[in-house]
This record gives sequence, structure tokens and C-alpha cells, in this order.
Amino acid sequence: MKIAIVGAGAAGMFCAANLKAGFEIEVLEQSGGVLRKVEQSGGGRCNITNAQKNVSEFIKAYPRGGKSLRKPLMRFGNSALEEWFLKKGVKFKTEGDGRVFPESDDSLTIVNCLHSEARKNGAAIRKNFSAKNFSKMPDGKYMLSSQDGNAVIADAVLFATGGCWNADLKSALERMSHKFAEPLPSLFGFKAEGLEELAGLSLRDACLKCPEFGFETSGDILFTHEGMTGPAVLKMSSLGARVFAAKGYKLDFSLSVLKNPESFDLFCKEARAKHSKKLAKNFRHPEIPQKYWEFLLEKSGISGELEWAHFSKENQKSLRSNIMSLNAKTTAKAANTREFVTSGGLELDCVDLNTMQSKFLPNVFFAGECLNIDAFTGGYNLQAAWTTSFIAASSINSLK
Ligand SMILES: Cc1cc2nc3c(=O)[nH]c(=O)nc-3n(C[C@H](O)[C@H](O)[C@H](O)COP(=O)(O)OP(=O)(O)OC[C@H]3O[C@@H](n4cnc5c(N)ncnc54)[C@H](O)[C@@H]3O)c2cc1C
Repeated sequence: MKIAIVGAGAAGMFCAANLKAGFEIEVLEQSGGVLRKVEQSGGGRCNITNAQKNVSEFIKAYPRGGKSLRKPLMRFGNSALEEWFLKKGVKFKTEGDGRVFPESDDSLTIVNCLHSEARKNGAAIRKNFSAKNFSKMPDGKYMLSSQDGNAVIADAVLFATGGCWNADLKSALERMSHKFAEPLPSLFGFKAEGLEELAGLSLRDACLKCPEFGFETSGDILFTHEGMTGPAVLKMSSLGARVFAAKGYKLDFSLSVLKNPESFDLFCKEARAKHSKKLAKNFRHPEIPQKYWEFLLEKSGISGELEWAHFSKENQKSLRSNIMSLNAKTTAKAANTREFVTSGGLELDCVDLNTMQSKFLPNVFFAGECLNIDAFTGGYNLQAAWTTSFIAASSINSLK
């Protein structure tokens, strides 16, 4: 029985690594390399999954597809993944924030392991084969063909093409009743106006709000020469990936750097009483970095040269308001982020999530980012690829 896997990324190669011996497996890869994204992932360390053990919490990290992933994750979640790799001699370690990496801190450990397991199962990797056309043949087999006229005929096909569906392939599947959500970027920073002087500054555990859509995230915010990025911003971009695109990424945000406004009022009281001779710019709330403090003073129309003795209630009110809710306008999506993913892809109601098989075509399976599933950073995107791919492989194994 011949199995064609389209895409030698995380999902495609994990499937090849999980197929039983005896199949003829051909992995078709449009580029000249395999597992390229996995190699780059996690800054070259591969944040392979997240340590969150509670599935109800785990699925909250997926703005799209989380609910549908509940059962698949219970079948093959982070613990099963760790066990799988441990059996192949790869150990994991967990960092304080729950991100899981190979103990080697090297994504090549994962790349080499998957490559070698796929090879053991007899998988042949056909590089530079970009599948463009897909059709069902009268005998029930499937044909995949490339632009240069090469064709592969298989009894079963796994599509593991990642976030960017080739237009022809997508049209072919659409003709066979499959539906797709428009691919849109997720996990990106924003270009913003008026924050340029903060470039290089990082705010710890800040809160970011987008009042128009009621989104709120928290975490670090990093200011760049273009605008802002960092965990709280990436999470926000993921939550709003679809509605933000519709607005051309021109949005109003508010940033809060203190959780407790009373701590600022207490600080002002103490500053006036015990540090009255100090200048406003030289004596700041301890939780607010110096650069941001000076920026907020300026935004609030307060001279940094003002002595605390003369710091009025009015000054306190306007500074407090900017500390708790600094308004920022974004102008566009930032060009570069490290760990972008695509939201959108094959609609999940086209697939039986117990098998990852198409509801319209027998022996056609889907796994990974080509599905309309995407998540925050933290190892969740790769876990979705491992989970859906493992289930697809189990289904293919049962075809034998
Ligand atoms: C820089 C970067 C870092 C990341 N780091 C992390 C991380 O640390 N942790 C995490 O959880 N997620 C991370 N992600 C996201 C994660 O890598 C992806 O979600 C994951 O790789 C998806 O796996 P996949 O197999 O579905 O798709 P991919 O890994 O994108 O693989 C798809 C493959 O299919 C091939 N292909 C596509 N179309 C065709 C076609 N028509 N014919 C033949 N081949 C085709 C592509 O060339 C590609 O090799 C990162 C993403 C990026 C870009």
C-alpha cells in the first residue's frame, strides 16, 4: 500500500516516523530540505511542547481550534509526546514558564530523531516536488502531480503542507467539497506611532488591552524601532489575528504597567513626604523602568525637573492615568517576528478529528498547520502538529 505525505515538516515527518513498517511511504517536499521550521523553531532550541498538564487549560492557548483539539490532545498530548521521544532516547526539559525543549537545547536533536525514525520505516523523501494538482482516480487511488509534470499515485494521502496552501491544491480540494478559512498571519508585532524613543525597552508583566474587541493580554512588552512586540503583544496578535486584519492592523491599544494603582498613590505620598527635594525624573516608582517613567512624565505634561514637593494632585492624576492606561495607536503589522504562524486553513468540520480523515474523501488525511488551528507561542503550535499527525498515522496504520 502506498502512502503519499505532502510536506516534510513537523506533521509530515512525525507521521512518517509513526507509520508501521510495510507501507511504501513517499514524502513529497517542495523545498530542498526537510523539517526546516522545526530546525528554526524556538530560536534553534525547538520549543517542542508546553508542560501544561490540564487539557482544559492547554486548549485555552488556541484562539482557533482549541475546543476541537480537546479529544485529540487527550489521546496524544504532551505527556505522550515526551514518552514517544524518550523511547527514541530524546529527553525533554521544562523551563520556568512551562515551555518544553529537548535537553540538548538543540532543535537538530528533534530533526535528526524524526528523520532517522522516518527512514527506519522506509520513507523516501522526494525533495523539490511541489504538489500542485490532486485528483481521485477511477480505481479509488489518488494522484498528486507537480508543476513540472511528475506524478505520484498513492492509496492514501496525508496533507501536511503547513500554513500556506498552494492555490491549485486548495482549488482541487475545494472542488471536492473542502472549505478553507482565509490564511492570515498570527503571532506578530505591531508598528506603532510615537513610541520610537522607547526602542530597546522591555516592560515586565505589563497588561495590554484592545478595548474595541475586548481583548486583554499580559506579559512582557518589548519596544522596537518600529513599535512593539514581546509575549503580551504576540498573544494579542493571536487573539485578534482575524479581526485585526480586517482593520488593516490600525488599532487603539492601552498599556498598563502597574497592576495596583494604589501602590502609585502611596508612592506619591511618600515621595512628597520623604523625598520632596528630589526631581520627578530622579525618583520613580520602583516597578517602572527609568526610560518609561520619563516617557510617561513627558506624556503627562510634567517636567522631569519638577521637585516632588511641588508635584500636584493634578500631576498625580494625569501620571496615574498614563501608568494605568497609556494609549498607543498601531499603524501596521510589523514585518518581522521570530515565530509567526498562519491562522486559517482547512475548516475543521471537513475532517473527522477522531481519525484526521477527510469527511469527503476516504483515505485522505490532514495534519498540522494546514488545518484551521493555531495557538499562542509556548510550544502549542508544534503540539497541534504532533497530535494531529499521530492520529493521522494511527488511522493510516489501521488501513493495513
Ligand atoms: C521561525 C519559527 C519558529 C517557530 N518556533 C516554534 C516553537 O518553538 N514552538 C512551536 O510550537 N511552534 C513554533 N513555530 C510554529 C511551528 O513551527 C509550526 O506551527 C509547525 O512547524 C507546523 O508544522 P507543519 O508540519 O504543519 O508545517 P511546516 O512545518 O510548515 O511544514 C510544512 C511543509 O510542507 C511543505 N509544503 C507546503 N506545500 C507543499 C506542496 N504543495 N508540495 C510539497 N510540499 C509542500 C513546506 O515546504 C514545509 O516543509 C515556529 C514557526 C516559525 C516560523
